[in-house]
Amino acid sequence: MASVELQNLVKDYGSVRAIHGVDLKIVEGEFIVFVGPSGCGKSTLLRMIAGLEDISSGTLLIDDKVVNMIEPRGRDVAMVFQDYALYPHMNVAQNIGFGLKMRNVEASLIAASVKEAAQVLQIDHLLDRKPGQLSGGQRQRVAMGRAIVRKPSLFLFDEPLSNLDAKLRVDMRTQIKRLHAILKTTTVYVTHDQVEAMTLADRMVILRDGVIEQQGSPIDIYTTPTNRFVAEFIGSPQMNIFTGKVKQDGPDCVVQIGDQHIDVGQMTLADGDTVLLGIRPEHLDLSTGLVLLKGVVDVIEPLGSDTMLVCKIGDQEFSARIPADFPIDRGQEIQFSVESNRLHLFDQTTGIRITGNPA
Ligand code: ADP
Repeated sequence: MASVELQNLVKDYGSVRAIHGVDLKIVEGEFIVFVGPSGCGKSTLLRMIAGLEDISSGTLLIDDKVVNMIEPRGRDVAMVFQDYALYPHMNVAQNIGFGLKMRNVEASLIAASVKEAAQVLQIDHLLDRKPGQLSGGQRQRVAMGRAIVRKPSLFLFDEPLSNLDAKLRVDMRTQIKRLHAILKTTTVYVTHDQVEAMTLADRMVILRDGVIEQQGSPIDIYTTPTNRFVAEFIGSPQMNIFTGKVKQDGPDCVVQIGDQHIDVGQMTLADGDTVLLGIRPEHLDLSTGLVLLKGVVDVIEPLGSDTMLVCKIGDQEFSARIPADFPIDRGQEIQFSVESNRLHLFDQTTGIRITGNPA
């Protein structure tokens, strides 16, 4: 198991700066996920750790040793890509053991390592098959097997599940999580899928335009996003953002949205300021509570387990998740309550969180 440290890491492609001085410490055994929209620099950062991209400036340490100039093979890392690149003419066992064979490891040791990896990945019944006789998920497991047998001190995954269909992605996600629980190898995992990031990560690193926007445990980031970008990126369906005007009401602060007044609790803001109020669709509750929000139902989307509503307050739209058995019609007015610690306020211009959860 390795620790990894990125110190002011920069990557320039010609005159274009892709990574803007990233600092990050990854501790031994941690499962870190880099997540962010396409083009934010996730793969570049991962490839710099792997040694597949030069570092323009800054320092990369693995186990406290500077590795900027060390070739990929000298870094003791194993990388799994989205295209599994298996050798079609070799069977599963040969594919998994290939790297060891190239290193002249003794045949009996290779066989034992392959068997062990295949058992962990639950593909030990497929060892004689060729890649062409496997499903996408099975092939991806073989690719992981190839990484596992090398017993690297660091696993790097670059969108490994992107080529799989939705159901398989979920299965493989579980498999990867189980694998980490068993092997406890330090892992850096790249995905644009926030659900994948939430479910896998010990710690998520959210990137935008080559900069870390926020890092922390999935739950901390979900409950306390540091800005509007993170708030809307993490959570599905995405957080509702209302634009409203601030009114001070004694010690309490009220945000006016359309003709409604939402009490956001005790805080002092400038009267008349425009702010953004964020509320997640799953935090709009049908029971009666203190903070109330009324909307008119515009679209009803039954999901079976629950129902998504698109509602309107004046010209502002928002989504709400309600129980599947709640009787509701289009055009009906509906009233929600929200716990005050589920309200998020952001600056309208900068998008930065205005306080902690207002209480
Ligand atoms: P992500 O993995 O988050 O989708 P990338 O790390 O692939 O993003 O890319 C980050 C930025 O760097 C993007 O703007 C991309 O266009 C640019 N980039 C990536 N690879 C190259 C390259 N080889 N040459 C020039 N620009 C690149």
